[in-house]
Amino acid sequence: MSSSPLRDRARAAMPGGVNSPVRAFKAVGADPIFAKTAQGAELETTDGRKLVDYCMSFGPLILGHAHPAVVEAVAAAAARGTSYAVTTEAEIEMAEEIQSAIPSMERVRLVSSGTEACMTAIRVARGATGRNKILKFGGCYHGHADCLLVKAGSGVAGIATASSAGVPHVCANNTLVARYNHREDVEALAAEHGADLAAILVEPVAANMGLVLPADGFLQFLREQADACGAKLIFDGVICGFRFCYGEYQNLCGVKPDITCLGKVIGGGMPIGAVGGRADIMEELAPLGPVYQGGTLSGNPVSVAAGLATLRCLKESNPYAELEARTRRLVTAIQALAAETGIALQLPTLGSLFAIVFTGQPVRDFEAIESTRQDLFDRLFHALLDRGIYLPPSPFEVCFLSTAHTDEQIELTVQAWAEALQEIGAT
Ligand SMILES: *Cc1c(COP(=O)(O)O)cnc(C)c1O
Repeated sequence: MSSSPLRDRARAAMPGGVNSPVRAFKAVGADPIFAKTAQGAELETTDGRKLVDYCMSFGPLILGHAHPAVVEAVAAAAARGTSYAVTTEAEIEMAEEIQSAIPSMERVRLVSSGTEACMTAIRVARGATGRNKILKFGGCYHGHADCLLVKAGSGVAGIATASSAGVPHVCANNTLVARYNHREDVEALAAEHGADLAAILVEPVAANMGLVLPADGFLQFLREQADACGAKLIFDGVICGFRFCYGEYQNLCGVKPDITCLGKVIGGGMPIGAVGGRADIMEELAPLGPVYQGGTLSGNPVSVAAGLATLRCLKESNPYAELEARTRRLVTAIQALAAETGIALQLPTLGSLFAIVFTGQPVRDFEAIESTRQDLFDRLFHALLDRGIYLPPSPFEVCFLSTAHTDEQIELTVQAWAEALQEIGAT
């Protein structure tokens, strides 16, 4: 590996040189990039490379980097004071906006990250039911709370084991893991543990194992299973919220969860999360109820300003159909190139998200994704980076388009893919 002064300084100062592991580029065996500045869909690195960005901070930047309305709102808010720790009218407005866009979120609490939103959702569900166990799905990511850093235990479905050191067994053992889209797993776990089950937690569209769409009726089935055993249904909409429509995936699929988690887009690139749901459940939270949750920077005025500016832009411009059409054009072009080179490649797509999966088989769960050709992704990542295209640095992350990606950038991207696939196919 080449010597890089920033990399060496970063590694001497921060574990692995990063503040979040995927930024180390370990999954693609590369030297990490360092950002200098970004505008629209273009990210400029400290060594002067200009990259078309398909990572987009892993989801928040639906309007692109440094959108003028967001930058202006942030600057204006910061000038009025960066934190008060008393309630502001803007927070009320943000909660009202979320309420009206996602009616199942009858009460909303703002927090500082998606992780915190999911942690809080689980605590509220446990508090409201007096039960301990939760059920999640293999390959769904909900942030790094102890009880969520788990993987399936010995069987395909059942009591989890920790997927990180430092997670006590008792936390992992209260989590059950089922395979996404496998009704039989959920039925078996509900039959055995239903009376102890506080919540079923799911990404309504699974976007942390590539992109896996819910099978027909799967989310409705989860609603019914939760009701049958008295558990709460939690949708983790941290990626899905305001990504596919002005609302959450529940607005499109018609299944109403008890609790919804949001993050990413609703902060426009500033730290934020939100948890909301049925009023009677949310009012279990302190100060009304016995479930404690709080935060010095919760509902931070600068984050809320960025979030409100983003939501206002989305509401006014309603860019979703256009975003989807542009994504579709890109994906269709790549698919045609892959067919020409004879490389087995699937690009599951929804709205402005798509995943890159090197397999000929349809993918509906984590096991299927894990068994795909990750070496090909690795080579694709490098071949595209060499040509000025920045993919998320892991085959499990999805690619994000924003309203700032131009037709010209899409054209450049297709050109780069053509060369990259030739390179991969030739070796
Ligand atoms: C990113 C993500 C989280 C965690 O959000 P952070 O803001 O990174 O803590 C939780 N759930 C889903 C579905 C996510 O994609």
